[in-house]
Amino acid sequence: MSRILLVASEGLPFIKSGGLADVIGSLPYEFKKKGHDVRVVMPLYKKIAINWHDQFLYLRTYTVNINYQEVNVNLWQLDRDGVIFYFIEHAGYFEREGMYGYVDDGERFAYFQKAVLEMLNQLDYFPEIMHTHDWHTGMIPALCKENYNHDYRYRGIKHVYTIHNLAYQGNFGPEMLDSCLGLGYYVFDNGNVRFDGGISYMKAGIVYADKITTVSPSYAEEIKTPQFGERLDSVLRFRSADLCGVVNGIDTDLWNPKTDPSIVKNYTLQNVRKGKAANKVALQESLGLEVDENKMLIGIVSRLTWQKGIYLVIEQLFNICNQPIQLVVLGSGEVGLEDKLREAEANNKGKICFYNGYSEELSHQIYAASDLFLMPSLFEPCGISQLISMRYGTLPLVRETGGLRDTVIPYNEYTQEGNGFSFTNYNSNDMMHVLWEAIDCYYNKPDMWKQIVKNAMKTDVSWEKSAEFYLGIFRELLGQW
Ligand code: ADP
Repeated sequence: MSRILLVASEGLPFIKSGGLADVIGSLPYEFKKKGHDVRVVMPLYKKIAINWHDQFLYLRTYTVNINYQEVNVNLWQLDRDGVIFYFIEHAGYFEREGMYGYVDDGERFAYFQKAVLEMLNQLDYFPEIMHTHDWHTGMIPALCKENYNHDYRYRGIKHVYTIHNLAYQGNFGPEMLDSCLGLGYYVFDNGNVRFDGGISYMKAGIVYADKITTVSPSYAEEIKTPQFGERLDSVLRFRSADLCGVVNGIDTDLWNPKTDPSIVKNYTLQNVRKGKAANKVALQESLGLEVDENKMLIGIVSRLTWQKGIYLVIEQLFNICNQPIQLVVLGSGEVGLEDKLREAEANNKGKICFYNGYSEELSHQIYAASDLFLMPSLFEPCGISQLISMRYGTLPLVRETGGLRDTVIPYNEYTQEGNGFSFTNYNSNDMMHVLWEAIDCYYNKPDMWKQIVKNAMKTDVSWEKSAEFYLGIFRELLGQW
């Protein structure tokens, strides 16, 4: 049994902005199942405090140095099904409406990372593996190795750093090194954390971790190229011997059409057609779409950013609207995209519905009700939505990039293999071409559609294999063979 501490900026069921929270909500439990001592630490955001505070156990208050002052850290604990979650509380830094996007994010997450490392000393709990995630925690291996190296208890920790999205890097001014992080300028001078005249939390994670993983084998290859490397490709090539891709799974209890409490009719592979039809009718009624269980329903649940390829959908709106389909989009993000989608809905009442916002419940209903899930991403480290779709018998139509390429196998009518549809180039005509094929298949080749749905629902989207892969990496680092 190993002691594993996961450090992340978000995680289900406490708070979620994207796929990272899905991973933090389920991966610890897979490690736990295999008999490990698993703990998780994250910031105590306002929303978590409101919803969970009465279940917390207060542990202690200690301080870390930020801006040359001792700043209090209140540490809380919650034991959830055998996994211990620690929460770092600071009203000024984390009691805000959102999680990220503030001008002092560099300072907020410097505080968080220092508070996490000091927590180990306070609790006299030292993990063998520290599994850090994305830029918010990228400085931890550096802080541990540079500032705590004199202490054998910290020196023994092995660091695994997982990149969920290289596009978000946590780049800040170099003055942060001294004032907030307490690191000497030599880590800037020697290039270890230097990026673009400032410092990069993401780069620090890549340079200092013992192993680096990302969330799919294809993305692990892509980010070593200038096209996808977000100007860190040379560092990633330098560390390529310690870099690998492990595809995400999903929480198959949370995402289960057989038991999902958010949908009107539960179903399995045996009654998928009837089950989906009932959910479709309920969704059409609740969203003001024309009620017709036979109309092909296309779903999108996504952050509305340039990464997700929504521009391709907007470019093809005219052609899409000319098809016998309905489109439902759930998401929020870039104002320009939101405006376009609002306009599309206004011009196509009953055919297109745009729900501007974030809703867990509606997302479940869309996955269950839709026939096709559209995800034409420009790049996609792994993608969770296409995995959820397959679990609900909703066929993904994706662009072949990153984790989408690794998880969605285009249907081959000769071998009857494949669990969805895909296109190669980031081009809306190519997307439309495949969408036409999918629409034709849905209406004119029902047996073929049925076969793809069967393949999709039988695809293994669980964490089983991937968790074992991570544990293999941990064992290798710990010299346990
Ligand atoms: P990313 O992490 O880049 O946003 P992923 O596909 O890895 O993309 O994960 C997205 C997750 O967030 C999925 O679980 C998806 O259902 C969920 N999600 C995205 N937007 C919304 C929304 N507006 N409302 C509810 N869930 C959403």
